[in-house]
Amino acid sequence: MKQSIGIIGGGWSGLAAAVELTLAGHEVTVYEAGKLLGGRARCITAAPPLLDNGQHLLVGAYRETLRLMELVEPGSSRSGFKRLPLTLEYPEGVSIRAPRLPAPFHLAAALLFAQGISFDDKLAAIRFMRSLKKINFMPDNSLTVAEALANQPVAIRRYLWEPICVAALNTPVEKASFSVFARVLKDSLTGSAGNSDFLIPTRDLSALFPEPAADWLTENGSRTRTRTRVTSLQNTGKKWKLILEDGEVTHDKVIIATAPVHAIPLLEQLVGCREIAVKLGALEYQPIATVYASYLEPLWFKTPLLGWVDPVPLFVFDLDTCRPDIGEDGTCTVAVVASAEGEHLDWDDARWMDEINRRMRQAFGQLPPVRILKRVTEKRATFSCTPGLYRPDNTTPRDGLFIAGDYTAGPYPSTLEGAVRSGVQCAKTLLQSS
Ligand SMILES: Cc1cc2nc3c(=O)[nH]c(=O)nc-3n(C[C@H](O)[C@H](O)[C@H](O)COP(=O)(O)OP(=O)(O)OC[C@H]3O[C@@H](n4cnc5c(N)ncnc54)[C@H](O)[C@@H]3O)c2cc1C
Repeated sequence: MKQSIGIIGGGWSGLAAAVELTLAGHEVTVYEAGKLLGGRARCITAAPPLLDNGQHLLVGAYRETLRLMELVEPGSSRSGFKRLPLTLEYPEGVSIRAPRLPAPFHLAAALLFAQGISFDDKLAAIRFMRSLKKINFMPDNSLTVAEALANQPVAIRRYLWEPICVAALNTPVEKASFSVFARVLKDSLTGSAGNSDFLIPTRDLSALFPEPAADWLTENGSRTRTRTRVTSLQNTGKKWKLILEDGEVTHDKVIIATAPVHAIPLLEQLVGCREIAVKLGALEYQPIATVYASYLEPLWFKTPLLGWVDPVPLFVFDLDTCRPDIGEDGTCTVAVVASAEGEHLDWDDARWMDEINRRMRQAFGQLPPVRILKRVTEKRATFSCTPGLYRPDNTTPRDGLFIAGDYTAGPYPSTLEGAVRSGVQCAKTLLQSS
C-alpha cells in the first residue's frame, strides 16, 4: 500500500532514501532547512563562479553513489566527473601513478614504478597489502592506523598510507580506526582497476546529484521542500506529526536524515530515543578547510591533483581542467584542501596564501599574482573516525521512525558513499518494516 513518508534533511543520505522509497511506489516529501539541497556537499554561491562548501573527491568504488546518480540523470556518473587513475603526485619529488592495466597489475605497477621511493620501501608496501588480504581486510578493530603502520617505512607512510587515510577518514592517523581504513583499502585498491580511480566533480556539488534527484522525485510523484526546518516531531497513534516553523504535516513514517548534531534535538524529545541521542552527543568531529584561489595567468598542471605533506598536508585541485564552468580565460582557479585538525585552522587569508604559494613554487617556479575567491572552513565536516565508534543502525525503538546519515552503522567513514549507502539501507529497512 502506498505510504506517505517524510524525510528530514535534504543531504545525500536523505535524497538517496527518497529516491529508493519513491521507486518502491511511496510518496515522499523531503524537508530541507537550507536554501539548497545537498547538506555538507552543496553549492554555496548564488552566482558564478559556483563554488562548494568544500572541494570533494570521490573514488570509482563509490558504487551506490554512481548508481543513484545514473538513475536520476542517465550519463551523469560519467559526465559528472573527471576520472583519473589513482595518482599521488608530490612536487617535492614523489610520484605514484597507476597505469591503465587490469587489477591488480595497475597497483603493482603503480608501486614498482613510483618515483622517489626506494625499492625496499615499495616491497614493504606490497607486503602490507598482502598481510591485510590474508585476514580479508578485517583487522582488530581496536587498532589505530598509526599503530598498524608502525613497521611501515617512513616514506610509504608519508606519501601513501597517511594521505589516503586523512583523505578518506578525515581523521589523523594517530586517532583513525584501522578497521575502517582497511575497508577503504579493500574497496578502492582491490577488485576492478576502476575502483581506485579518482573522480573529481565537473560541476558544483548541488548540480551533481541533489538537484537531479529533486527533479526526478518531482517527476515521480514525490517532492522536496527547501527552507523548511522541522523543529520537532510527535507520534499521534499510527502517524507522525512534523512541526515546521510555519505549520504541521503528518506522515505514516519518518526518516531523520540530518547530521548527528541536528538529529540529537529531534531524538531526545522522544520517549525511547533518548539513549541514541545521548550516545550521538559523545561523537567528536573533524574539520575540513577549502581555499578557492585564482591565479591571474594560466598554470600548466601535470595532473589535476597535487599534494604536499609537510607540515600541514595540502591538496591542490586544478579547477580549470576539472570545472569548465569556473574561471575566466587566461586565469587559473584552484581549490586547496586541508583535511582534519591542524594548525591551519588558525591561519588568516595572508598566511594561507603564503603557505599555498610556497608549495606551488615547487611545482611551477615563479607564480603570477593570485587572489582568494573564497575560504570555507567546515568545523564539523565529518565525525572523527576513531576505533570502536558508536554508530547506530537505521531503526529506532519507535515504530515508523528511522535514521539515516553518514554516521549510521556501515563499513564506510563519513563520506558521500557512506551517506548514500545509509540512505539506501534505511529505505530497505523501512520497506521491510511495512
Ligand atoms: C568540506 C567537506 C569536504 C568533504 N569532502 C569529502 C570528499 O572529498 N569525499 C567524500 O566522499 N565525502 C566528503 N565529505 C563528507 C560528505 O560531504 C558527507 O559525508 C555527506 O555529505 C553527509 O551527508 P548526509 O546526508 O549524511 O548529511 P548532511 O549532508 O549533513 O545532510 C543533512 C541535511 O539535513 C538538513 N537539516 C538538518 N536539520 C534539519 C531540520 N531540523 N529540518 C530540516 N532539515 C534539516 C541540513 O541542512 C542538511 O542539508 C566532505 C564534507 C565536508 C563538509
